[in-house]
Amino acid sequence: MFNNLTERLESAFKNLKGEARINDLNIANTVKDIRRALIDADVNYKIAKEFTDRVKDKAVGSKVINAISPGQLMVKIVKDELVELMGGEEAEFNTTGNPAVVLIAGLQGSGKTTFSGKLASYLKNQKGKSPLLVAADIYRPAAIDQLMVLGEQIGVDVYSERENKDAVSIAQNAIKEAKSKNKNIVIIDTAGRLAIDEAMMAEVANVKEAVKPNEILFVVDSMTGQDAVNTAKAFNERLDFTGVVLTKLDGDTRGGAALSIKYTVQKPIKFVSSGEKLDTLDVFYPERMAQRILG
Ligand code: GDP
Repeated sequence: MFNNLTERLESAFKNLKGEARINDLNIANTVKDIRRALIDADVNYKIAKEFTDRVKDKAVGSKVINAISPGQLMVKIVKDELVELMGGEEAEFNTTGNPAVVLIAGLQGSGKTTFSGKLASYLKNQKGKSPLLVAADIYRPAAIDQLMVLGEQIGVDVYSERENKDAVSIAQNAIKEAKSKNKNIVIIDTAGRLAIDEAMMAEVANVKEAVKPNEILFVVDSMTGQDAVNTAKAFNERLDFTGVVLTKLDGDTRGGAALSIKYTVQKPIKFVSSGEKLDTLDVFYPERMAQRILG
């Protein structure tokens, strides 16, 4: 996945190979290499610096016990810090309520609709969950069609109103529909634009205000690196979302978004998407991701 980062970290740890203990010189070189590796992975300088400062403090402060080499100790410290950077524990996904409401927001092309389909398919296979997908894109009829096709593929009903140009009332009507059809979780796929746009933000904010979602998931293309982080910031300021969905991880060779987003917006990554197939939805586990990064 983030092959270059993995290789570069491995090479940083090699500074400590054959060393009996951690000293000022070998730690300085190691930390410098780790910092460069993170920056080249498109992690923001400040985050990379704070990360390596913490790693250094921990390494210098820890006693190397006989059973573990300085190199192994460093791997452990870096792994623990990576887990922390990406949120520590896995985040909860709140689907209580009848119906529970999940609002999906993000830029056009980020993978919102694909993710909505994946989430609906995932929930449908959970005991006692009966999802309804809602097409709340009032600008692009093609977006409604796309969700309809997805719904058919996964066997989940899709609610839409082609003539209605008010996203708020579509969302409210969808919730009524869910109640009348015993659907207990409503997934609202909102309209996206190619760039951040006040009208789009206002519309999603109005839907949020009207339907009081359990979860507001911000969907972002991980391949866009620091842009993903900046977009997350803008959406979070306006929507105060509950979690991030990182998509297209299968195409992301660097890892900057995965590593920086939690730190920047202080909201957890809840799901990741690594492909177009609808039957695979991955809950995000910081621990597993850290392990994968370290190879
Ligand atoms: P939306 O405009 O935000 O609703 O985005 P779409 O769901 O239509 O996705 C945009 C494009 O990205 C489509 O071609 C999807 O098939 C593709 N896509 C979505 N998620 C993923 C993913 O996790 N991996 C890859 N490789 N492609 C994805």
